[in-house]
Amino acid sequence: MRKPIIAANWKMHKTLREAENFAAQFPAEQDLYQQVDVVICPPFTALQVVGEALRGTGLKLGAQNLYPRDQGAFTGEISPLMLKDLGCSYVILGHSERRQILQEDNKFINEKIKSALKHGLTPILCVGETLKERKEGQTETICGNQLLGCLADLEKEDVSKLVIAYEPIWAIGTGVNASPEDAEKTIAFIRDFLAWQYGLETAEQIRIQYGGSVKPDNIKELMKQKNIDGVLVGGASLEVESFFSIVQGA
Ligand code: PGA
Repeated sequence: MRKPIIAANWKMHKTLREAENFAAQFPAEQDLYQQVDVVICPPFTALQVVGEALRGTGLKLGAQNLYPRDQGAFTGEISPLMLKDLGCSYVILGHSERRQILQEDNKFINEKIKSALKHGLTPILCVGETLKERKEGQTETICGNQLLGCLADLEKEDVSKLVIAYEPIWAIGTGVNASPEDAEKTIAFIRDFLAWQYGLETAEQIRIQYGGSVKPDNIKELMKQKNIDGVLVGGASLEVESFFSIVQGA
C-alpha cells in the first residue's frame, strides 16, 4: 500500500527565529512519522535551521524550488546539490504560483524534475486548473497536458518515484477546498492517466496528494478517498497546532 505523505509548503513565510521555533515545538512523534511521511518545506533561507532541528525526529525536509543545473553562473538560483547538502529529500516543483507569477512552463518544470531525480531528490509535482478552466470543463485536459509536458522523456522507473499534488488553483489560499468527491474524481483521473502512460503497476505506486485549503476539519474526509494519498498544505501548515492536527488526521 502507498504510504501517506503530508507536506507543509510554507511559501514565503517565516523568519529564521519563527522557523526555528516551529521546528522546536513540533511534536517528535517518531512512531507516527514511520507510518506517515511528513515533509516540511521552508523557504531556502530557513532550510538549514529547520533541517538541524528536525534531525533525528523522522520528519523530512523539502525545498520549494530548484534551478536545474548543478552549479554555474545563475545569479540568485539554488541548485539541487545545494539542497542535498542541506539535507533535503523532497522538492516542490511546478507550483501554480510559480507557473502564474514567474511564468514557469511545463518544459522548464520537466528539466527541474530530471535534475531533482538525478540528485536523488523526490519531486512533488503540482498540477491543477484555474476556475475558468474548471467552469469550461477543462480540468482533465489541463491536468493531462501538464503531466505530459512535465513528465516528457521520463522512464517509468523515474516516474514511479514522484509525488504528484493535484492543486486546483481556485482552491489555493481561498478557504474553499475542492469537495473530497471532486478531488477524488480528478485524482482518480490522474492515476488512470499515469496507468495509460506508464502501466498499472507504476500508477499504483505513485502517491498523489490533494492541495488547496486543507485544514484540520477537512483532512479526514479527504484521506478517506481511495486515490488520495496525502495533502500539500499551505496556510494551515504555518501553525504547529493546525499542521500537527492535519498530520494526526491523516
Ligand atoms: P493553501 O495552499 O493550503 O494555503 O490553500 C496550498 C498550496 O499552495 O500548496
